[in-house]
This record gives sequence, C-alpha cells and structure tokens, in this order.
Amino acid sequence: MPEDCIFCRIVAGEIPSTIVYEDDHCVAFRDINPQAPTHVLVIPREHIVGMAELEGAAPELLGHLLMVAAEVARDGGLAESGYRTVINWGPDAGMEVAHLHIHVLGGRRMTWPPG
Ligand code: 5GP
Ligand code: ZN
Repeated sequence: MPEDCIFCRIVAGEIPSTIVYEDDHCVAFRDINPQAPTHVLVIPREHIVGMAELEGAAPELLGHLLMVAAEVARDGGLAESGYRTVINWGPDAGMEVAHLHIHVLGGRRMTWPPG
C-alpha cells in the first residue's frame, strides 16, 4: 500500500471516514467536502491509480464499482430523483487523489456541462 495514499489509508482504517458500504472489493464513504447533499466516493480496496492504469485491473472489479455506485445511490434515496457519477482523471478534470474513485452526487439539480 502506498503510504502517502489517503484513500489506501482510509481503506486501512488509519484515517477515519463515514463508510456507507463495504465489501471484500470496495469501500464507499462520504466525501469530506461534499458538493451535493449526497456525495459518496466508491473506491477499490486495491490501489488502482486511475483511468491510466485500468489495463491491469480486473474488468469484474471495475463493473462491480459501478454497480456499488448505483446501489449506494439507491440506498441514499436517489433512484427516483437521479444522481451523477463522476470519475476525474488528471489536471484538467481537477483530480486530487490518485486512487481510482467514483463520485456519487445527488440531492440537488445539477447543470450540464460541468464546470
Ligand atoms: P478528485 O478531485 O480526486 O476526483 O476527488 C477527490 C475527493 O476526495 C474530493 O472530493 C475530496 O473532497 C475527497 N477527499 C480528499 N481527502 C479526503 C479525506 O481524507 N476523507 C474523505 N472522506 N474525502 C476526502
Ligand atoms: Zn491508494
């Protein structure tokens, strides 16, 4: 585990977080700086850097992350109102943490295109 990865440290329980779902493959927890009434991050337990490193990842795991994102949204009462899932990668997207994560945002009306 990269010692300097915040999300690996959250997975390891070294940094506290509000976990809303977890299983053998992934953890979902509330974003520390929420951009919507519901803002959850779904991450693999395994340190996958991001979109540039998907080749080495199991397709089943990547599919599982998306299904968990939908489950988290459903459990958060967002199925009817809708929600947004986002993966930021690189400087132009404003990525801050280089450990793959899916944002699940909902509970307010969002605009498109994103800012
Ligand atoms: P990115 O910009 O990389 O797509 O998103 C990283 C997200 O991680 C940001 O929304 C940021 O608020 C969140 N974040 C950064 N550090 C922590 C932390 O220590 N705990 C939690 N729960 N979220 C964090
Ligand atoms: Zn990591």
